[in-house]
Amino acid sequence: MTSQIIDAAAIKNDPVFGQLSFDGHEQIVFCNDEDTGLKAIIGIHNTVLGPALGGTRMWSYKTEWDALNDVLRLSRGMTYKSAITGLNLGGGKAVIIGDAKTQKNDDLMRRFGEFVHSLSGKYITAEDVGMETRDMDVIREVTPHVTGISESIGGSGNPSPVTAYGVYMGMKAAAQYKFGTDKLEGKKVLVQGVGHVGETLVKHITDEGAQVIINDINEVRLEELSKKYNANVVLGNDIYGLDIDIYAPCALGATINDHTINQLNAKVIAGAANNQLANEVKHGKLLQERGIAYAPDFLINAGGIINVYAELEGYGKDEIKKKTENIYNTTLEIFNLSEQENITTHRAAFNIAQNRIDTRKKEKNS
Ligand code: NAD
Repeated sequence: MTSQIIDAAAIKNDPVFGQLSFDGHEQIVFCNDEDTGLKAIIGIHNTVLGPALGGTRMWSYKTEWDALNDVLRLSRGMTYKSAITGLNLGGGKAVIIGDAKTQKNDDLMRRFGEFVHSLSGKYITAEDVGMETRDMDVIREVTPHVTGISESIGGSGNPSPVTAYGVYMGMKAAAQYKFGTDKLEGKKVLVQGVGHVGETLVKHITDEGAQVIINDINEVRLEELSKKYNANVVLGNDIYGLDIDIYAPCALGATINDHTINQLNAKVIAGAANNQLANEVKHGKLLQERGIAYAPDFLINAGGIINVYAELEGYGKDEIKKKTENIYNTTLEIFNLSEQENITTHRAAFNIAQNRIDTRKKEKNS
């Protein structure tokens, strides 16, 4: 999925520690089980603020390098997501190599759960692309180190609606910064990927009167949702040059890359996908130079982690809503900071998160 940042020379000489995306990971666990066919990788990036919490993604990666690269980028992102959101959690993530539609079964999930359990709570898993709440329930049979289990067995359920609400808050804050109003009425918004998060986002912005255009590789879903929300549909990959106000990437990462960045006509980017910038430094800077207001993904898609954190901390829906609504304020602060310091929004958010981690590390060591 994000193979463009794999460095071929580094793979040859330093196949793991030398990868660009390795970036200080504490631990990487390769999980292999011949009986179930499980091949998974758990990335634990940083546990200074707390146990590494992050979802498990099941995907048909073209190569194992793609899977490794993806898990490393995702787990690192979780560290900064939890840090900027003020949660006492570290960053981790897992990937299972395989097709979730045809290769997922309960035995595979349980075996994966046993690997998670072997880490004694250093890594706590949750749902990501290719996973459902039900899968978390199966994992719960073999380990307590899983969140996002069904409400009927004491969990917080599907995190996606909360993620979508947080993205909506971040989008409104970005609109406030760029257009001088956070009202989305009349704004042309392209939502790329109308899965669990994308659909709820479409609902929020449609309710507010935005003109919504939806794009997905699943044409059946597009047809269903275009009727349900009276949304326009655009098919295929040729979407970046569309005449729109806001682009909301809600499918997979790295859609802002060398190929797409100069085509973009949107004035705001605010979406749910993790790792939207193929190269955080280069593409973050290019967006800044082009005056495109980019709401950092790891900041505005934190609703899901807020939701599962509630499961660990035992707080309720009001607190979840309050924390998720606060994404609006933090996003505005980040835009203002980026302008004052003439740095990218990604860098501004990253600096605040890193500062929190560094402070905690000093406290622990003193
Ligand atoms: P999902 O699997 O339910 O939905 C993804 C959608 O994107 C699907 O409808 C799929 O068909 C579509 N898609 C895949 N490739 C595409 C492409 N090339 N072009 C257009 N559409 C494409 O996943 P989700 O739970 O809605 O998550 C969406 C994104 O948000 C993911 O990147 C995920 O990591 C991120 N995210 C999700 C959560 C959460 O709570 N679910 C939290 C944080 C971040």
